[in-house]
Order: sequence, then C-alpha cells, then structure tokens
Amino acid sequence: MQLWFDPSLVFVGGAWRSAKGGTLPVQDPSNGDTIAQIARGNADDIADAVVAAETALQGDWGRMTATERGRILTRIGQLVAERVDDLALIEATDVGKPLTQARADAVALARYMEFYGGAADKVMGETLPYLDGFTVYTLRQPHGVTGHIVPWNYPMQIIGRSVGAALAMGNACVLKPAEEACLTALAFADLARQAGLPDGALNVVPGLGAEAGAALTTHPGIHHISFTGSVATGRMVQTAAAQNVVPVTLELGGKSPQLVFADADLDRALPFLVNAGIQNAGQTCSASSRILVEQSIFDQVADRMATAYRALRVGPAKDDLNLGPLISARQKQIVSGFLNLASADQVIAQGTIAPDAPAGGHYIAPTLISGLGPDHRLAQDEIFGPVQVLIPFKDEADALRIANGTAYGLVASVWSADGGRQMRLAKGLRAGQVFLNNYGAGGGVELPFGGVGHSGHGREKGFAALYGFSTLKTVAAWHG
Ligand code: NDP
Repeated sequence: MQLWFDPSLVFVGGAWRSAKGGTLPVQDPSNGDTIAQIARGNADDIADAVVAAETALQGDWGRMTATERGRILTRIGQLVAERVDDLALIEATDVGKPLTQARADAVALARYMEFYGGAADKVMGETLPYLDGFTVYTLRQPHGVTGHIVPWNYPMQIIGRSVGAALAMGNACVLKPAEEACLTALAFADLARQAGLPDGALNVVPGLGAEAGAALTTHPGIHHISFTGSVATGRMVQTAAAQNVVPVTLELGGKSPQLVFADADLDRALPFLVNAGIQNAGQTCSASSRILVEQSIFDQVADRMATAYRALRVGPAKDDLNLGPLISARQKQIVSGFLNLASADQVIAQGTIAPDAPAGGHYIAPTLISGLGPDHRLAQDEIFGPVQVLIPFKDEADALRIANGTAYGLVASVWSADGGRQMRLAKGLRAGQVFLNNYGAGGGVELPFGGVGHSGHGREKGFAALYGFSTLKTVAAWHG
C-alpha cells in the first residue's frame, strides 16, 4: 500500500499539520500488523477545524456559485476515478475488505461526486401565491458548518453520500472518520485539495470517538450533524446535538429482512439472499440478516442457501475471496458472542476460513442459522457479522408481522411473482427502502436511504440528501 499523504496529520483549513492529541496506531485486520500511525485529533483540533470551516463560508467557498461548486465536485470525482485502484488497495488494507468490494466502494465514491456535482445547481426554490401586493419565494441555503461522523465499515461510500451532498449545498464540512479506518478519508481530502476545493470547505480530523467525535457533536459552531454507526452512539450524538439545538441525520443500521414466497424465482433470489448477508463480512448497516421463507419452500431454500454457504471462502483482503476479516478483535468478540447463543444443531452451514489466513487476522466463518423463533436475540439484534437467520412464515400476514417485529426498519425485500402482494407489502413494511425481486444493500447513489425506528432518521443519498443538508428560507416581499 502506497500512501501519497502523511496519515499522522490532520487536514484543517486546506493544510496538513500535526494533531494536537498526538498519534494512534492503526491495524491491518487481515493480519493484525500495525500499518500506520494516524492522527489522534482532540477537541482543540476540532475547534480549529470549525474555525477553518466558518472562515471558508465567509470567504471564497461561501461566495461560490452552485455551478462552480458542482464543477469542483465533478473534478474531485474524476480524480477519485483515476485513483480507484490505489484507493481500493488502501481500503482493503485498512478495513480488510476483499479487493473487489473495496474497488466497488471507490467507484461509488467517484459516482457520488459525479452525481452531487451535477445536482449542485439543480436545487431550486419556489414562488408562492400569497396576499395582493406580495411576492413570496423560498431559498434553499446551507446549514453552515456540518459535522460528519463516519464509521469504519464503508468509509468511502459514507463520505461520498454525506460530504458530497453537504458540499453540493455549500456547507463547509468537518469530518471525523473512525479511528479504525480513516486512511481513505485522508486520501479523499487530498484529492479534494488537488481538485481545487477552497481551503476550509472540507476539514478531516481523525481521532477517537470519545475525544474528537464527542468534541464535534458538542461544539456550538456545528450547525448540522450527520452520523452513521451504532444505536448507542447515535443516542449520544442526538443528545449532544439537542443541547445546541441542531438537526441530526442518524443512520444506525438494522435487522433487514428478505421475504421469500413460494411463487418466487428462486434461481434469481438465491445469490441476493446470500450476498446481502455476507457482503463486507456482514458489517453492513443494510445487511439482510433475516431471511423469512414461506413454509412450503422452507426446506428447499434452507438447503440451497446451506450449499452456497459451504462454498464461501474467507481470507486476507488481498486474496479477494468472498469475505475478508472483521475490522477488529473487538468486533470478532461481539460476533462470536452472538454465535454462542445458537446451539450446534441450529447452525445449518458455515463457510471456510482459508487454512493459510494469518493468525493475527480477525476471521470468522459465515454462519447460517435456523430453528430459532423470531423473538430470539439472534433474530432481533444487529450482529454486524456474517450471520443470517432463516425463519419460516405461514402466509403474507405472518410474514409482515415477523418482518416488522424488530426495533429496526432500514431495508426490506419481497421475492414474489404476485404484483398485488408486492404492492401491499411495499406499503406495509416498516423500512426506509423496499426492494421488489431484488436487494440492494443501501441501494444506489441515486436512491434516498435511511431508516425508521432504531435505524435512525433523515435521508441521505439521491436528491433527498440535498434537502437534508440545506435549510428553507421564505422571503415575503411587499411591493404594493
Ligand atoms: P460507533 O457507533 O461507536 O462508531 C461510529 C462512529 O462514531 C465512529 O467514527 C466512532 O469513532 C464515532 N464515535 C464513537 N463514540 C463517539 C462519541 N461519543 N461521540 C461522537 N462520535 C463517536 O460503532 P463501533 O465502531 O463502536 O461499532 C459497534 C457496533 O456499532 C457494531 O457492532 C455495529 O453493530 C454498529 N455499527 C453500525 C454501523 C452502521 O453502518 N450503521 C457502522 C459501525 C458500527 P471511533 O470509531 O473512532 O471510536
């Protein structure tokens, strides 16, 4: 892995400098080796970043037209596209993602910049009919300084969807990536600098959640917070934001179901059923961790999924197998703890960890589980590992009840040839996205994404994100 920037520095006000909190080691999850020292940003670094962002808003960045902002985003996207292979290798080494999956994330980041570059000058206000003698119109304006707290599972995609939309609307961003995976955030900052993004429009301060993250959420100069991560930390972020009365977008994961009916095209469904659970070793907010199957085809689906699971291979990111390691020893401990809740006869199939996988890596075999009730913890809690639970249902009403029977509501899918059923379930499922006869973990760049219940609130991706990252002003002019 070749880094063209120094990861031990923070990026503030368009310049690289040492973090006031020192440095932290970061590991390659494939072997446990230390690969870099990264900046340990603290509250002072965050405060500097907020000042730099505010300065940008008062300066060139704040005065720029939407079209000019869009051009810069598009240029960033082009630079990202030129460095896709470098970025993929960095992400694979830092996160443990198989290279193909890391490359897909880099391609998505370029696509986010292209999408939001094109969208920047297409967001319009309205003129409103009002009293005689008035002209009334609305303006969409940036919040100001936006805070972005990004987890380790999809750094590039989450930066693309939140920072891309925020910059398109003219906000100035302070980004706190996860301490376990911040390298592509820094690479992105450097590409943005090369593309001509004005100083201070994007600031990146890596560091610990409890230090840099907490400082960002409590800083009175932050006007909007976008957070992706766990429910527990999301609660803290929302509580902190409430003290300053600022809006928050929370994307907190899920327990997303796929509903498979007896009339489904199983040949088409099978790869989606499995991939949606094991992609990124299951460390995906929109992973499908519950597969609900109509009783009459339950054994058939279970057998076919078990066969697919037995063919899955796990190994170092560079070997580009089906799954890489989990991000950390801590994450492996969490997932192993969940697996201990299943008895041996409930584990119906597992994949294989490559015999030569380094002992220091955080590997776990993908595991398919059956024979649990829908209220079991394995069918209720977000595991965030490569574990799927199969649950039978009797009929459509039973399927809907089980699907909606968790605290979460992020993504769901329906596999059925019956158009009426598709429409009924699309309406009835408690989720931010519903896929019919397909499953897109999070969907494309263009598709609004976010949850209900413990999955969070607010929407990112697509055009909807541009409304979230802006505020609406009504101007009422009396002219007689
Ligand atoms: P967290 O929610 O703790 O971390 C997400 C982000 O929040 C990271 O950037 C983290 O920084 C930051 N953070 C942590 N504490 C604070 C704080 N007090 N104030 C502000 N920011 C903070 O998740 P974990 O990494 O601890 O993972 C634990 C579990 O969370 C997983 O097992 C999974 O269930 C869930 N998760 C869900 C994700 C999703 O996509 N929805 C993504 C990641 C995790 P840092 O990492 O540097 O501490």
